[in-house]
Amino acid sequence: MTQVRTRIAPSPTGDDIHIGNLYTALINFAFAKKHKGKFIIRIEDTDRQRIREGAQEKILSSLKSFGILYDEGPDIGGPFAPYRQSDRLPLYKKYALELVEKGAAYYCFCTKERLEALREEQMAMKKTPRYDKHCLHEVKAAKERIAKNEAYVIRLNVLPDKKMSFQDVIRGEISFDSNEVDDQVLLKSDGYPTYHLGVVVDDHLMEISHIIRAEEWISSTPKHVLLYESFGWELPVFAHLPILRNPDRSKLSKRKNPVWASWYLEQGFLPEAVLNYLSLMGWSHPEQKEIFPISEFIKRFDLKDVHPAGPIFDIQKLEWMNGVYIRDVLTTEQLIERLRQFYRNDEEVHALLNDTNSKKLFSLLDLAKSRIKTLREFKDLVASPQKEEHFESEQVASAKALTVLLSGIGSGMWNEDVILKHLKTFSKERGVSMRIAYILLTGKPQGLPLPQFMVYLGKDASLKRLERYV
Ligand code: GLU
Repeated sequence: MTQVRTRIAPSPTGDDIHIGNLYTALINFAFAKKHKGKFIIRIEDTDRQRIREGAQEKILSSLKSFGILYDEGPDIGGPFAPYRQSDRLPLYKKYALELVEKGAAYYCFCTKERLEALREEQMAMKKTPRYDKHCLHEVKAAKERIAKNEAYVIRLNVLPDKKMSFQDVIRGEISFDSNEVDDQVLLKSDGYPTYHLGVVVDDHLMEISHIIRAEEWISSTPKHVLLYESFGWELPVFAHLPILRNPDRSKLSKRKNPVWASWYLEQGFLPEAVLNYLSLMGWSHPEQKEIFPISEFIKRFDLKDVHPAGPIFDIQKLEWMNGVYIRDVLTTEQLIERLRQFYRNDEEVHALLNDTNSKKLFSLLDLAKSRIKTLREFKDLVASPQKEEHFESEQVASAKALTVLLSGIGSGMWNEDVILKHLKTFSKERGVSMRIAYILLTGKPQGLPLPQFMVYLGKDASLKRLERYV
């Protein structure tokens, strides 16, 4: 194969693309770009029970939001369309029958009850449950039974006692014994392929050169290798990426973590920061750099340098990195654009970001950017305090005093020095710390330098924030 062609093959069974699959997508994308190849999305929707309405659309839109753009896929087509397995059913049947012809697969009519009994028997004997080839020798009878509309599946005929192996770019040689491989169902009675048949047929037909996927698929690969062999097809290159882990080394799971990729965007993580962080999962920059753009990752990354031990996905570390992007990587203009986009449906914050005096806005952002790690935290910094039913009398008295003092400042005098002088007076007269003024205006104990923030808000808006106490 001359051209590098990589793919991800998500199943539309969740709310969105899993963050671990986003990592797999990033590596496939970067590897294809590095080798001037193509990156493909194929939707594997053959497990009909587990399909979720809207999941495919969500997966595709999340990939786009992260800038992981694909060259071929279900919504954009391509030379090997269709890219959704449920639209390719006749193909799988054709290939399954080809294997039956070759004796590499066979029809099986066993009932659920028989399979269940077999399984129980094997379990009782402490054997790994597997199919006993009961239907293997019934090819002639099989045709008759099928003609009578009896339900059947097609199984892979695994020959016993074969030592086999495949090369994994990340893990080296992986060997297996055919006795460990079950006579896997390839085509189900509903006419849908199982994952194993679908994935091998499509990866071959779509000319996928490198199969880069998560470690959890290693145990399936021997079945795939047997299938490639049975078809007489050339093996692609395999690479099994490590699975991301929590700081306590447990697997990331829906029950414990935010796992859906779009959650990170909703929390105000920047896509480029998330990708930068993911690129460091199992790989390190040759110069030990931590912050670099994806273009640099594409240039420097090599699949064989990925470390197979499960890397730690630590949200706190990601937050730190996101903070670096907000503070040091984005320009203030870019940050304002991102914030405007992020708060497009939040009237108050959006209005604050639309100040026509851009000098004032820039200085506000310069103050804010070193104090936030996510776009979401910006709101905590600048929004009015939450409405409350009841205020302490102390608070009300302080708010009144502050209102009187600030009202006395002439509009032309509303600047940092004058405000600071008045805040000091307030603090002295009321015998409270200046922090109280900040709490009154923002509802939080700390955040932006108050005089600067009040200049940004302006006199009217500042006084308005105090009105609610009186
Ligand atoms: N459909 C599988 C999944 O859900 C694809 C695994 C593979 O990449 O082969 O991830």
